[in-house]
Parts: sequence; C-alpha cells; structure tokens
Amino acid sequence: MNYLLNNIPDSKGLNAYTRDKFFSKLLEFYVGKDLLNQIENKFVELGECVGSEVEDLALSADKHPPKLVKRLRDGSSSNTVQKHPDFIKLEKIAFEKFGLAAMSHRSGVFEMQNILPPIIKYGLTFLFVQNEFGLCCPVSMTDSLTRTLKKFGDERLINKFFDQLTSQDLDELFQGAMFMTEQHAGSDVGSIDTFAENINGQWYLTGDKWFCSNPDADLAMVLARYDKKTKGTKGLSLFLLPKKLENGQHNNYEIIRLKDKLGGRSFASGEIRLNKAFAYIVGEKKEGFKQMTDMINMSRLSNGVRASGMMQRCLQESLFIAKTRSAFNEKIINLPLIRKQLLKMLIITEASRTMVFKAADILEKADKGDTEAQKIFRIITPLIKFRACRDVRKIAGDAMEIRGGSGYIEEWMDPKILRDAHLGSIWEGTSNIISLDTIRALKKADNLHVLKTFLINLVHERSIKENEKVLLSTIDEVFNFVFQEIKDDYEASSRQITSLLYYLCSAVFLNAESYYCTSLYHRKKISELIIKYKINENNPLQRNEIDYKLVNEYL
Ligand SMILES: Cc1cc2nc3c(=O)[nH]c(=O)nc-3n(C[C@H](O)[C@H](O)[C@H](O)COP(=O)(O)OP(=O)(O)OC[C@H]3O[C@@H](n4cnc5c(N)ncnc54)[C@H](O)[C@@H]3O)c2cc1C
Repeated sequence: MNYLLNNIPDSKGLNAYTRDKFFSKLLEFYVGKDLLNQIENKFVELGECVGSEVEDLALSADKHPPKLVKRLRDGSSSNTVQKHPDFIKLEKIAFEKFGLAAMSHRSGVFEMQNILPPIIKYGLTFLFVQNEFGLCCPVSMTDSLTRTLKKFGDERLINKFFDQLTSQDLDELFQGAMFMTEQHAGSDVGSIDTFAENINGQWYLTGDKWFCSNPDADLAMVLARYDKKTKGTKGLSLFLLPKKLENGQHNNYEIIRLKDKLGGRSFASGEIRLNKAFAYIVGEKKEGFKQMTDMINMSRLSNGVRASGMMQRCLQESLFIAKTRSAFNEKIINLPLIRKQLLKMLIITEASRTMVFKAADILEKADKGDTEAQKIFRIITPLIKFRACRDVRKIAGDAMEIRGGSGYIEEWMDPKILRDAHLGSIWEGTSNIISLDTIRALKKADNLHVLKTFLINLVHERSIKENEKVLLSTIDEVFNFVFQEIKDDYEASSRQITSLLYYLCSAVFLNAESYYCTSLYHRKKISELIIKYKINENNPLQRNEIDYKLVNEYL
C-alpha cells in the first residue's frame, strides 16, 4: 500500500489496533493472558474495520445527518428519523457484529460462555470511536439503559424488554435513550417540570424535553415529577417510555425537530413533546433521580472512554504524519518542536487511556460487590469525564495542526474529530457540574481517605523503588491541598481539585502498569512527566528539556 503520494501522508488501511504499539500489552495487563488470547482476534478484526470501512462510512454519515420525517407522501403523519444508509452500516458493525450494547448483559457475544468484563467493551469502544464518535452515543445509551433497568426495574419489566435490548439483530433490537433536559432544566435537574400522572394505576407523562439524543429510540429513560408539590430532585420518578404502545401505535409524543449540531452530526438529537405518553415506572417512586444517576454515571464514563479513544487516534495519526511527511529536506519527526508537540500529546493521551482502562477494571470489582471499588469508581468517574473530555478538545486541535493545511479540510477526519471532541465536556454535565460532582463524591463518608489509602497501597504494591518516594510525597501534597479546600468549602477550587486528582491517579496507575513488564516500562516515564508538568508547577521562565527517548518508543 502506498501511504505517501505527493508528500501527503494517508494512513487509511492501517489497522487501528495493531498500529498502536502498546494496546495489546495493556489489555493483557488488565484482562490477563487467557482472556486476551480468546478475544484478541476481535480487536484485530475491529481495528482492521476501523482503519478502512468505518472511516469511509463515518465521513459519509457525518456529511449526511439524519432527517426528521413528519409526514409521508400520502399525507399520513409520521414521527420517524430517517438515518443515512452509511450510518445504518455503522450500526450493523457496532450493534450486530461486535455486540457492543449487549456484551455487558448477556453471554453469547463472540460465542463466549460468560458475560465479558467491562474492559472488553470499553477497549472495543475505544477503538471504534477512533473513526466514529456519533454512533457511540446510541450504543452507550442502549447499554446503560439496560443496566439501569436490570438494576432497578421489576422483573416483569426487565423480562419484557431484555431480549430486544440485547439483540444483535438490528431488526429486532430496541435502542435506548435518556430524556432529562428541559429548556430551563439542564444542570438544574431538580427543576424538571415534566409531569407524571397516575390514572387507574398507569403512568402518563406530559412535558417538553429539550435535548433528546437518539429521539426515535424504542425505549427511553425519562425523569418526570410525580408530585407537583414536592420540589427538587426528591419529587422525580424514573420512567421507561416505550416508542410503541401495546396496540402497535406510536406512543403519545412527538419529535418536534432535530438539532443542527456542531458535532456528532451522524446521529440525531431532537426535541420531544410528551402529551400524556404512556410510561412504566422504574424502581422506587421517590428514588427516581438516584436511580437515574447510575445511568448518568455510566454515560459519563463512556464519554471519557470516547474522549480517550479520540485522543489516541489523534496521537497515532500525528506520529504517523511526523514519520512520513517531509519539510526542509527531512522528516518532520526530526524537528525539535514537532517532538515537543508529540511528547505533550503523548503524555495526556496515555494518561487518559490508563484512567479509562483502570476505571473499567475497578467497575468490574465494584459490580461484584467490592465496597472499596464502589467508592473509588464513584470518584474516578467524574475525574475522567471532566479531564479527558477537556483534554481531547486540545489534542484534536493539535493533531489537526500537525497534519498542516490538509488537517483543516473536510476530506480528512480531523475537522470531524475536532467538532465531536467538543461535545463530551457539555452533555451529561458541563465541566463545572462535573467538578462539583467530584467534590460531592469526595465529601461522602470516608471517600477521600479511601482514595488516598487506595493510591498509597498501589504505590507500595506495584512500583519501581526509585519512584516510590516521589509518588508518595506527591500523594501527600495533593491530598493536603484537597483536604484543606474541602474543609474550607471553597467551591471555586472544584475544577482544580478534579484535575489534580485525575492526574495524580493517572500517575499512580501508569506507574503500576510499568511494573508489569519491560514493554510497558516506558509508562514510568509518562508517570514522571505527568507529575512534572501537570501537578508540579511548570515554570515558563525555565527551559523544558524534551525527552526524545519517550517519543522514540512510539515510533
Ligand atoms: C448534542 C447534545 C445532546 C444532548 N443529549 C441529551 C440527551 O440525550 N438527554 C438529555 O437529557 N440531555 C441531553 N443534552 C443536554 C445536556 O446534558 C445539557 O445541555 C447540559 O447538561 C447543560 O445544561 P444546559 O444546556 O441547561 O445549560 P445550563 O445548565 O444552564 O448551564 C449553563 C452554564 O452554567 C453553568 N452552571 C450551571 N450550574 C452551575 C453551577 N451550580 N455552578 C457553576 N456553573 C454552573 C454550566 O457549567 C454552563 O456553563 C444534550 C446536549 C447536547 C449539546
């Protein structure tokens, strides 16, 4: 394959999994050799598909957003979203071939006898999102709706929809969505007005939902007020809204219009008016918001995974371009400023990957009932949603610049990634809201102490001796600051605390990875640089020595 015609590097056709030198070893570290041996061929297969077919389909779907069909040609009314055929092909890859929305809920995906651990789903999503971000929203919504339904719904309701929610046949599949936001109620969920009326033992919802991604989903989790007198989140119940009624007719809600979005253009987000729409109540009437939080947290983690996958795509592409593109009679990789750019991208990108893989590992333990893991997971989810979703915005811009002028041209993936990259930090909670959520999580019971002890233990258990001292003293310094700010209740430090803890955790986790084998030894260096550039002060009045060796590891 000719990757370099006219000095324009084009990586199309490269396997997104195998081009990434450390993916396989990292998976081995987190899932163990046995499972990796059984499943790695799926990563290779998806990597192949992402590097070629998915790129073409995604670029096309991005240019052909879905359309709302309100009326059919015979004049009958319609309430459907018409998806572009290339988007449907993407759906077939994600939902059918790779079972991304099913694999955490039932066995049988890839003919496996057991339900696969979260890291397999997140690892494959990390790969898929490298060329298609938009579809990951409906996939994640379907996956997280199923989880929330299983966790809180009654058995009859679960049994009614489980098979369709986890189907790997698009014709059978029920996709999921989440309708919370109203015009006046986004971050301020407690001001939701949508009203739930109980008539003869059945629930009917009336209200206006302002942001509804995947609006023609077969099932949506909806927050609505069961009692107008009970203000705030306490008055909210959780409902499961079916698209179709038992008699086959469309439920009583209308998609008013679709949003014309900056990014995520391949899939639909719309506005929905509910007009006494039939819905099933999920779980406890008074626990609606609490129950929805589970779905929100899973979506937040999924957002972080997507941000990390996009960053990895940007890094791999930038390394590829730097190795192949020439300027001033040499490959641009040899230019000090390019190396410095790559180094900066590399440490942020790899920190995010380590955070999402470790989060998946912790989630598995948390779901098995480990209470320490539950507390850690509760804290690191907002850390990842906050920092990774912000970092990807910068990395996407840097990658665009490394491609040069072509990076600004719509034939390439860069403009799409740049647009997509800006969504993660807004939906499912803006950066401010997420950082406040971090503080809420830290204040709960002994969570702050649990996190500190967890990190210290990890350093003692898995760290190269020479690093132990600096890691332990950094943990102390960061936690001293965090304890003080929380004690003072100084809200304006919330974002600073969230960033600090994210980078601190990543430094400790990266260091633990480096302890595993020589091919991951370079992660010790990344850990050191994270501490140096992201935690300790970065003085602009002193020279920053560039560690060329670390960049070389990635070439
Ligand atoms: C493409 C897209 C798809 C979406 N899909 C869905 C969906 O499927 N379902 C759904 O329910 N929602 C969805 N949303 C809505 C999204 O989650 C909200 O837009 C988001 O939570 C912000 O709410 P808001 O727009 O009301 O802004 P506001 O909450 O009004 O925020 C405005 C500003 O005020 C700041 N702010 C608010 N409160 C505080 C505070 N206490 N302290 C500090 N700053 C604060 C925010 O950080 C923000 O900068 C989607 C949004 C987009 C863009």
